[in-house]
Amino acid sequence: MLRLWNTATRRKEPFTPIKKNTVGLYTCGPTVYHFAHIGNIRSFLFSDVLRRTLELEGYRVKQVINITDVGHLEVGADIGEEKIEVAARRERKTVWQIADFYTKSFLADLKAVNIKRPTATPRATKYIREQIALVRELEKKGFTYRTSDGIYFDTAKFPQYGGFAGVRIAGQEAGARVEIGEKLNPTDFALWKFSPRGRKREMEWKSPWGVGFPGWHLECSAMSRALLGQPFDIHTGGADLAFPHHANEIAQSSAAYGKPLAHVWLHSEFVVLPGGAKMAKSERNFTTIGDLIRWGHDPLAYRYLVLNSHYRSPLTFSDEALNTAEQTLVGLRGALRDWPKPAGRPLSGYADRFLQALEDDLNIPQALAVMWEMIKSNDSPARKGATLLWMDRLLGLDLIKIVGRPFKIPPKIQKMLAAREKARVAKNFAAADEIRRKIEEAGYLIEDTPTGPRIRSV
Ligand code: AMP
Ligand code: ZN
Repeated sequence: MLRLWNTATRRKEPFTPIKKNTVGLYTCGPTVYHFAHIGNIRSFLFSDVLRRTLELEGYRVKQVINITDVGHLEVGADIGEEKIEVAARRERKTVWQIADFYTKSFLADLKAVNIKRPTATPRATKYIREQIALVRELEKKGFTYRTSDGIYFDTAKFPQYGGFAGVRIAGQEAGARVEIGEKLNPTDFALWKFSPRGRKREMEWKSPWGVGFPGWHLECSAMSRALLGQPFDIHTGGADLAFPHHANEIAQSSAAYGKPLAHVWLHSEFVVLPGGAKMAKSERNFTTIGDLIRWGHDPLAYRYLVLNSHYRSPLTFSDEALNTAEQTLVGLRGALRDWPKPAGRPLSGYADRFLQALEDDLNIPQALAVMWEMIKSNDSPARKGATLLWMDRLLGLDLIKIVGRPFKIPPKIQKMLAAREKARVAKNFAAADEIRRKIEEAGYLIEDTPTGPRIRSV
């Protein structure tokens, strides 16, 4: 039986779906004003592994990852400038071009680390009507008030507010003083923001309250309801989203419709740098999947690195950690390549223990330990291969590509590989990349390992 740590109850709970066979899963997606960094990608790798676990358990999963292409503000919670507008000025593009470009890049990143394509990736700007309907419902029930810059949710009218996640609410501690402007309570948040007087924004819509744009939290409440129903099963996001984002989603959805928004809330921990700083777009201390590829890494090595630590523990990212993961992945592929063709059913003892580890709040590090034990065992290599491929349905390391590929490298490719190594050592990455591209065009893939590059056919 699958057990998951629910942030809402702060307990590991048995998972029971609302419908018998289908699970609705909503994952808070990226704000598309910049490339996603590998910290962001960890939160999506986490929801991918959750989805694969549910599928291995026999459920059909309907997964939504939203694309936030409006409504995320630059400074503070409810004041300041829209990040996408700032990016548009920086890059001399329209906000729509910015959102489009970074959405495509995000979807390409998901593919590079073999994250299954979500059932839907709705954009916030395509659900303005639903968001307005939600605010109207809240207005009808008396949860809103108006200030000079927007329509706000009155958190004092929702007594359960902030109970979620047991988070301390900033500004509500005794004696704390915060600048709340026209807001009635520090935790109140914008549902609808008015366009500034005298300025036409590139992204703005008519509403019953005036021309403007939706508050950030609104889209997730409206789109999850539209696509998965309310309540749905599981809502995920990075740890920083528990408060205020998810507390606000819960408040507005429950207040509007008198039902919970989701049953289970899961939050994955951060990617940090050695020394402990959180990787963040605003800190400019981040690495992207594109960077990893440019530096000659296999993006699946990052996937392995993420799998190797529990989702509720911070993950320290460093070159050494990535190299170790890459070496391990190469070893794993090597084992599979050296064995005869996989055949037979998965070895049930290992398969059972692998599943048990997953069912214990997605303990993938434990599942990987079972996998390595299996690989090192004396069982028949063909059965071991079959077991590994079965396990890879969860791990998503794309090991199927390794199976049954004869492995002969023509001298011409060997020569190109040596030339690329030379360029790399000389830090001439552009030349190295160019050679890599040619090698790949010829139908070979390079795996960089600490003992030098290895090559295989695609
Ligand atoms: P954003 O694009 O900033 O809205 O973030 C997208 C997702 O990435 C959210 O679930 C965040 O909680 C998550 N996230 C942001 N920074 C990190 C980080 N350093 N490590 C892990 N997840 C992160
Ligand atoms: Zn969200």
